[in-house]
Amino acid sequence: MERGKKIIIVSHCILNQNCVVKPYAKKQDNFLKFIKNFVLNNYGIIQLPCPELFILGLKRWGHVKDQLEYPNFKAECKVLLYPIINQIEMYINCGYKIDGIYGIQGSPSCGVNKTCRGNWEGEASCYKNLDDILKRVHLVSEKGIFMEILQELLKEKNIEINFYDIDDWSEEID
Ligand code: SF4
Repeated sequence: MERGKKIIIVSHCILNQNCVVKPYAKKQDNFLKFIKNFVLNNYGIIQLPCPELFILGLKRWGHVKDQLEYPNFKAECKVLLYPIINQIEMYINCGYKIDGIYGIQGSPSCGVNKTCRGNWEGEASCYKNLDDILKRVHLVSEKGIFMEILQELLKEKNIEINFYDIDDWSEEID
């Protein structure tokens, strides 16, 4: 039997850099080593939906977590995540192993150990210059909003899965 019965769950952009906010998309082969390791070990890969693409679109500005943690964004994240939670539950109940959820370090949505916060709102003209805008952003040690909600939904079902960050700012991802 060829079925590995082992699965990992990954943020959408690990398999599809086309959804990333401009100008941060990387060449898709940056993720090859990471993906290949799992494929060669017979893992299946579940791709999470990209919340920012679905809710804010492809032409969105870059955001910080502070801008996304409002009730409707969170509600939409839940709508996107319910089918994933159902799949996870089904696989676990049938004896499959979910060996980790991989997010993107620093993302306001998909960060696992780090996300970005900042005092941002309104028109760019509210700020002195680009430096003033950039200086307000900082990394904090908490999950992005989408991963936070995913963890909450798993907890409600008493499902424990380890979360990991991929640092996609580094040249080599492995
Ligand atoms: S980190 Fe999450 S929200 Fe950002 S592009 Fe990747 S999948 Fe979308």
